[in-house]
Amino acid sequence: MDSLAHFILALIAGMAMGLHRKHKVTYIAFISFLAVLIDLDHFLVPLGYTTVYRSMHNVYVTMIAPFALFIASYHFEKNTRSDRWQTFFLLLGVMLTGHVIADMIYGPVKIFYPLDDRDVYLPNIDIQATSDFTSEVIGPIGIGMTAYAVIIFFGSVVHDTLYHMRHNGLQVREAFRRSLSDLF
Ligand SMILES: [Zn+2]
Repeated sequence: MDSLAHFILALIAGMAMGLHRKHKVTYIAFISFLAVLIDLDHFLVPLGYTTVYRSMHNVYVTMIAPFALFIASYHFEKNTRSDRWQTFFLLLGVMLTGHVIADMIYGPVKIFYPLDDRDVYLPNIDIQATSDFTSEVIGPIGIGMTAYAVIIFFGSVVHDTLYHMRHNGLQVREAFRRSLSDLF
């Protein structure tokens, strides 16, 4: 997927999480821009740093690092008035994970590289209404978009849970229940 599409999808993810109610859209756009930067790894092959295309599109860069920094920020900001860094890393993690999922719509990605260089695909389900009805009901694009929506949903629930803990003084479990009951 091209970089502009990644930027727009990340921006939509930030808006869908409701962050524009508290933060400026330019702030969400800035983090969306950061989530596109892993595409700079396209240049690593011609520069001779790696032989694997999209080498930074892995779970360590896009999921484990941002979510570890999110948890660390949460602990550092626990008794402060700011929730700036935990929000930043949560949003960045959602956008980077979404970036890799969006790329997987178009083909396999080596998401465990460099520890393991196997190709990982989205589940290959192809459901068509009838054999001569060419438009599929479920295919790679639908599955990729569903996975993207699940990541946004996860981010929203975590964000709302933190909000209820911080502003309503609730314990994790109660805050989580409240964030779900706000949705359903
Ligand atoms: Zn990419």
